[in-house]
Formats: sequence, structure tokens, C-alpha cells
Amino acid sequence: MQVKHWYDYLWVVEISYFVLGLFNILFAWIGMVFFLTPLAISFIKGNKAYCNKYCGRGQLFAKVGGKLSPNRPLPRFMTTAWFRYGFLAFFMTMFLTMVLNTYLVFTGVQDLSQVITLLWTWKVPWGYPDVSMVRPWIAQYAYGFYSVMVTSTILGMVTMALSKPRGFCVYCPMGTMTQGICKLKHKE
Ligand code: SF4
Repeated sequence: MQVKHWYDYLWVVEISYFVLGLFNILFAWIGMVFFLTPLAISFIKGNKAYCNKYCGRGQLFAKVGGKLSPNRPLPRFMTTAWFRYGFLAFFMTMFLTMVLNTYLVFTGVQDLSQVITLLWTWKVPWGYPDVSMVRPWIAQYAYGFYSVMVTSTILGMVTMALSKPRGFCVYCPMGTMTQGICKLKHKE
């Protein structure tokens, strides 16, 4: 029997993150750990240990996909470099737009928008609970970041349902970034 490690259960942390975010959007800030840790590991260690061991989201796709995924190969175009880098560019543009919106709320140019945006398109009002205990820009970033996390998870689940359990990992922006960092490190 394969020995289980603590990090084999990080998929539970991933689910908990989304549940906590629904109770209070400010918990979305915890997601910065999921954002910064893979970058730090690839910068410092020059490897993809995060993807291979510590990504709760990847584990979640594998778990759910183990039961539901048809295990079909991804369409060829999705495995090409131009698609992966193109998606990364698109994703980063959306991420920077989210940061800009936070800045506009910070400067008072824009009011806090209490919505969760799914797939960069559909806005779901999410005004509960009250977040007036923090500065509006802090709440704005939480709404934006949570939207990013939910959106990428939806994409991952759809990819899982149509192809392979961890099909999203092929074009995951974080995976593409850490891979790029590792390549640069090994060129040093
Ligand atoms: S490619 Fe993305 S989703 Fe897959 S394991 Fe890495 S960080 Fe997680």
C-alpha cells in the first residue's frame, strides 16, 4: 500500500478555501499562498515540486476526475506552446485588470463592486456578509481574487469532464509560469 503524506490531503484545503470564501469573501486572501508558493518554489529550488506534490487543486481534479473523467486526450491545439503562452497572456491581462480595479477602489475613483465574476463574464452579486470592517480596496481584491480562483477551478473541472482528470495542468497559467521559471533557472 502506498504511504500517504500530509501533502496528499491538500485537496481538502482547496475545498475548505472555497467554502470559507462563500462565508466571508475576505478569506479569499488566503489564496495568495496558492499563488506565491509555487512561484517561490520554482525560483528558489528550480523545480515543480508544487505541481507534483503540493497543489491541492491538481489533487482535487485527480480525485474527482478519477471517477468522472472520460480520460480522453486533450485536443492537440491545447497542448501547443502558443496556446499555453496565449492563455497565460490572457490570464495575466485579466489578473492585472483585477489589480487595477483594486487600485481604483483604493484611490476612491471607483466604488467597491460586491460581485464574484465567473469566467470573466458573469457577475454574481455577493453582498453578504458585511465587509465594512476593512478598507474597501481590501474587500475589492478579495472579490477579484476569489473570482480568479473560482474561474480557474471551473475551467479545470470542465477540462476534466471532457478529457483527462488533470487536463487543466497542461495549460494552467501557474504551471506555465513555474515551468518557464524552472527553464530559466536551469539555463543559468
Ligand atoms: S499545473 Fe496548475 S493546477 Fe496543475 S498542479 Fe500545477 S499549479 Fe496545480
